[in-house]
Amino acid sequence: MAYSQEIFLEATNRIAQRRQNALRAAEYSREQLFREIPRLREIDFELQSIGATIAKAIVKAPADGQESIQSLSERSIRLQEEQDRILEEHHIRKDVFEPRFICEKCGDTGYIEHDNRTDMCDCLQKLMSDISGEMLSDNLTLEDYTFENFSLDYYSKSPDSDGKIPFNRMSNIYRYCVDYADGFTPHSRSLLLIGATGLGKTHLSLSIANVVIRNGMSVIYTTAPDILFKLEKEHFSYQYSEQEDTYHSLIKCDLLILDDLGTEFSTDFTRSCVYNIFNSRLLAGKPVIISTNMTIDELIGAYSQRFVSRLIGSCDRLDFIGDDVRQIK
Ligand SMILES: [Zn+2]
Repeated sequence: MAYSQEIFLEATNRIAQRRQNALRAAEYSREQLFREIPRLREIDFELQSIGATIAKAIVKAPADGQESIQSLSERSIRLQEEQDRILEEHHIRKDVFEPRFICEKCGDTGYIEHDNRTDMCDCLQKLMSDISGEMLSDNLTLEDYTFENFSLDYYSKSPDSDGKIPFNRMSNIYRYCVDYADGFTPHSRSLLLIGATGLGKTHLSLSIANVVIRNGMSVIYTTAPDILFKLEKEHFSYQYSEQEDTYHSLIKCDLLILDDLGTEFSTDFTRSCVYNIFNSRLLAGKPVIISTNMTIDELIGAYSQRFVSRLIGSCDRLDFIGDDVRQIK
């Protein structure tokens, strides 16, 4: 499959971002570990300076440097043994200092070298295909929806009719979403966002999308009516190959955000599409963020008790409350 230059650049950027994130995370946990166990920092420092001294000795005096190189190497082995011992005592993995790349094959570089050849890694191929799938959701400008420009000021600090304080509830949901986005992996939990229109469900799901994309993973955002309309149209116009592509993209992206569930025109076909998309992703352990303006009872009416139970059972549920923010604005 051929991809445009634009998709290639975007994919390359995201891979670079993944690598940078992995390196930064490794550096961070290293620093934390050193703070907790200062002896590890000393060992690390000495190991590095031994390495540098040996390198210098080899370059400068290859012949008569042998003896000191020998003793330095022995010292270095002893230090490494001590390091391993300390890690074991603290039940820490031996590879704790290694960056944890999303793709171990290429170390998040996108390329693999072997036999003097450089090949594109599968992960870069996959990312390009994911990004072309994202074009499904091209009718939104993501930059407009960030955690930074989400305002809690629109939520009342007085109790509502159920005695709940919208501001407090929404502050918790906001923090939950920030943490969810920061810690997102392609196997994170799914989320179910429930609440009336204008309470910020779309804004927060797109803010999550922004962070997830920035961290190098692929996201498809779509509204249930849009995507089901598209799938239905493709299905009944016999464009099987294209339909499979759309469907395939929805299944394999790292995060699928399905907005406005329940507002689509409900037919047997759309219902079975929703079941299939959700179940396939669930089976593959891939997260979905579903948002709906319907109550649980209304959802059961539109779908089925069985589907809704499954939905609730496999998602973290966030109940949005308050007054329509768009009207207050
Ligand atoms: Zn790779």
